[in-house]
Amino acid sequence: MILTDYTFEELKEQPIFSEEKPFRIKQLLRWVYTKLEFDFGNMTDLSKEFRGKLKENVKIIPLEKINEIHSFDGTTKYAFRLNDGFAIESVLIPMNEGKVTFCISSQVGCAMGCKFCKTATMGLLKNLKVSEIVGQVLLLKKFAKLKEKQKFNIVFMGMGEPLNNLKNVLKAIDILTDEKMMDLSPRRITVSTSGIIDGIKKLGEYPKKVRLAISLNAPDDSLRERIMPVNRGNNLKDLIRVLKDYPLPKRDRITFEYVMLKDFNDKKEHALKLYNLLKGLKYKINLIPFNPFPESKYKKPDEKTVLEFQKVLTDRGVNAIIRKSKGEDISAACGMLASKNKKE
Ligand code: SAH
Ligand code: SF4
Repeated sequence: MILTDYTFEELKEQPIFSEEKPFRIKQLLRWVYTKLEFDFGNMTDLSKEFRGKLKENVKIIPLEKINEIHSFDGTTKYAFRLNDGFAIESVLIPMNEGKVTFCISSQVGCAMGCKFCKTATMGLLKNLKVSEIVGQVLLLKKFAKLKEKQKFNIVFMGMGEPLNNLKNVLKAIDILTDEKMMDLSPRRITVSTSGIIDGIKKLGEYPKKVRLAISLNAPDDSLRERIMPVNRGNNLKDLIRVLKDYPLPKRDRITFEYVMLKDFNDKKEHALKLYNLLKGLKYKINLIPFNPFPESKYKKPDEKTVLEFQKVLTDRGVNAIIRKSKGEDISAACGMLASKNKKE
C-alpha cells in the first residue's frame, strides 16, 4: 500500500494498522508529514517490529525525481517519474520575504485543449492518484529545505485541469490540511480552473475553503471560444452566474487569470469589456503576458500594451497585477509544463 493515498480515518481501517494504537499511526504520520523522513529505519520512536512491518508492506511516495532545472530567478522545475512510467512536472517558486509557492500537477497532460497552453499539446494521459498529488508536495517541501513549521502555499497550476480530477484533488486537500498530516491551512491552497461550472459548484460545497482561481483569458464568448474550447459548454454568462453564487469566505476574493496574447485580447477595449463583465464580483486579476513555446502561434504583447491594459482596470479601482513569469527560461512558467511520456 501507499501511505499517502489514505486519510487518517482510512489508515486506521487498514489491516496493517488495525492492531496499532491511533497514537502510533500519528507518530508515523508525524515522521512523514512534519519531519519529511521517508525511511522507516530512521523512525526511532517506533518499535522495531512495527518498522519491519512497515518496511515490508508500505511505500510512502510513488514518485521518483528524474530531473531538476534551476532558473536564474531561483525557480526550480522538477520532473518526476510515476510508478506506471508516466512523468509529471512540479515547480518550486521562491516569493518575496522568504515565502515559497509549490505549483503542482493534477493530471498527466490535460483534455481541455486551450490554444495557448503547452500542456494541452499532450492531450490527457491520466488523472493523478491522491498519493501522486500529495507526493509532489512532500518532495517539494523536502527539496525546499523548509523548517518544520515554515508555511508555504500550493497552487494547482501545474499540468492538468484539477476540476476534472476533483475526487482525488479533494482527498489530497483533505490530507494536506489535516492537522495530523501536513496541517496546511486551506487558505494557502489555490485551485485554478479553466471554468468548469459543475466542478466549481462542487468545490463550493466542499467544507474546506480553498482559494479559487479562474483562467478567464478573454472578455467575451466569441474570443474565449477561439482559445478555450471549454467555453462552449460553459459560457461566460453561466460562469459569472455561478461565481456570483459561490460561497466565498468573508474578505476572500476570486482570482482571475488573464493570459495576454499579442493582438488577440490585449487592447484597451478588451480591458474595458473585462471590467464590465466582472462588475459585481469580489475579485482580483492577474495579467500574465503569454509565455511562448515552439508549437504556439501566439506572441507576447509588449510592455507598453500590458501597462495600458492594466491602467484601464486600476483606474476603475480593480486590483490588477502584472504577474512576472518566474522560471520562463527553464520552461517552468505558467502553461509551459509538458513532459515526455514514453513509457519505459
Ligand atoms: N488547468 C488549470 C490550471 C493549470 S493552467 C487552469 O487552466 O486554470 C495555469 C494557468 O496558466 C492558467 O491560468 C492558464 O491560463 C495559464 N497559462 C496556460 N498557458 C499559458 C502560457 N503559454 N502563458 C502564460 N500563461 C499560461
Ligand atoms: Fe488544461 Fe489549464 Fe492548459 Fe487549459 S490552461 S489546457 S485547462 S492546463
